[in-house]
Amino acid sequence: MTKLICILLMLPTLALSATLKELNSKKPPYTLPQLSYSYDALKPNIDAQTMTTHHSLHHKAYVDKTNAALDANSKNENLLDLLRNTTKYSLSIRNNAGGHWNHSFFWTILTPEAKQTKINPTILKAIEKDFGSFDKFKADFETSAASVFGSGWIWLILHDKNVLKITTAPNQDNPLMDISNVKGKPILALDVWEHAYYLAYQNRRAEYVTNFWKIINWDQVYKYYLEKI
Ligand code: MN
Repeated sequence: MTKLICILLMLPTLALSATLKELNSKKPPYTLPQLSYSYDALKPNIDAQTMTTHHSLHHKAYVDKTNAALDANSKNENLLDLLRNTTKYSLSIRNNAGGHWNHSFFWTILTPEAKQTKINPTILKAIEKDFGSFDKFKADFETSAASVFGSGWIWLILHDKNVLKITTAPNQDNPLMDISNVKGKPILALDVWEHAYYLAYQNRRAEYVTNFWKIINWDQVYKYYLEKI
């Protein structure tokens, strides 16, 4: 009985964070969050082998290396503090805490049930206001994804004055970081590191990006859109 209670109490800390606040306030030791879907759930858009290595090896390595890189100055800070103050810490913290945050976020905006989660009318209106149309937004996002040279991410953020903006970041940087040229609250992201698509798509990044639209969890994006951080 006691063992069962312990297991139940442990579950929330292992699950994916459902809010930015929950993810941002994580403290060490950091742990690899469990996905809310199976490794093969996103196929054929993302294959099971890619999901397995991406989550259990790549993401796990960011978690372990963040824990290893913590020192007296950084060990008491939460995850958001590490990102907002990267210039105060080592490059390893920037790369690995960034990697941990980015992947923890990324898994939540993907879903095998994308067909059932239509884009919320409020976000759709905001996208149409700031990009002209949803098709223009998609085209801009795809152009940005193609423009990332080497490894990095594409972000849809809520920028100043509630304006939606697409921005890119190299390596594991993100728009919450002090070193980011364009800052804002992330509501959608796409990992364009080769490890995210190369096994199935090889060099066809554009095809991976096209298929990304089929697996977006718009309900979760809407939650991030509304959330105050
Ligand atoms: Mn990745």
